[in-house]
Amino acid sequence: MTESAFTQEILYKHILDNISDGIYVITPQRRIVYWNPAAEKITGHTRQDVVGKTCCETFLRQIDEEGSPSCGACPGSLALEDQTNHEKNVYFEHRDGFRVPVLLKATPILGPGGTLIGVAHIFQDNTTNEIIYQNLEELKKQVYVDRLTGLFNRQYLEMRIAGKIDEFRRYNWKFGLIFIDVDHFKDVNDRYGHAAGDEILKLVAQTFQANTRPSDVFGRWGGEEFVGLISSAEEQDLFKLARRFRMLVANSNLRRESEVIHVTISVGATLVNLEDTVESLVSRADQLMYQSKQNGRNRVTMEFTNPLST
Ligand code: GH3
Ligand code: MG
Ligand code: MG
Repeated sequence: MTESAFTQEILYKHILDNISDGIYVITPQRRIVYWNPAAEKITGHTRQDVVGKTCCETFLRQIDEEGSPSCGACPGSLALEDQTNHEKNVYFEHRDGFRVPVLLKATPILGPGGTLIGVAHIFQDNTTNEIIYQNLEELKKQVYVDRLTGLFNRQYLEMRIAGKIDEFRRYNWKFGLIFIDVDHFKDVNDRYGHAAGDEILKLVAQTFQANTRPSDVFGRWGGEEFVGLISSAEEQDLFKLARRFRMLVANSNLRRESEVIHVTISVGATLVNLEDTVESLVSRADQLMYQSKQNGRNRVTMEFTNPLST
């Protein structure tokens, strides 16, 4: 963008459209002339629903803490009357019918010569829900994320596999599962120490995380074992992807002061079938992984009609 195209108007619109607070503006006749995207998000009422209507009309149905309709004594009305700022905890009616607690702040807008030309309203989702939500997210993290690697943990993976099997039965959304075990990992611990072993696990996990498509999920199954859920309908695609991960790990290096440590992985890959349970699917991939171990490690085994190894 050239500098000349950058006007204050563009700047203000950008801010108003992207701020997380809900904002709306009324004229002295209480007609709504602006309604930002955050206001849409918080209340469910779209700009089309709202702009042009008066704020006392049905859609927001403000009530106060006691449940009394606060229209007329609302911060906006008070700001229109005395041209000063007002704020109040009120409840809007969400488009879906439930009540949304908001802290509503109204501030008069003065035009040239100090004439009142409108009132701007700013509101935000009242904090309690947000805090509960944040705590919930935090709890979910604690329950479903592996502390060491930051990947999903086994509990989460089991839940996702069950969900994916269900989706496969209902909608025929195929997926593949790859089971990964780090080769000779005990030797890494023995030779370089447990802390270095931990660093290697993080390195391997990062390889998965950095190279995972949004539709795929990787997690730590336990110890030095990982599981990937791959949204793929084709055996060849799954095989290629598993081979790429094998190659990427084999080419990753943990650099410590005087030494470079690297590990390889053995992989088993399989596509879901209609008889599968979580246990049968994981155990099939695990057995294929074990074949990779037996055939020399640092390889992928996938069950084609004629089993292939690389
Ligand atoms: P293989 O190639 O047959 O898989 O040999 P391996 O040595 O990798 O297999 P084994 O099952 O004998 O050893 C796995 C080791 O992983 C043993 C265990 O102490 C180590 N381990 C499991 N979890 C962790 C961890 O969180 N951190 C570290 N540093 N080591 C771990
Ligand atoms: Mg193992
Ligand atoms: Mg191992």
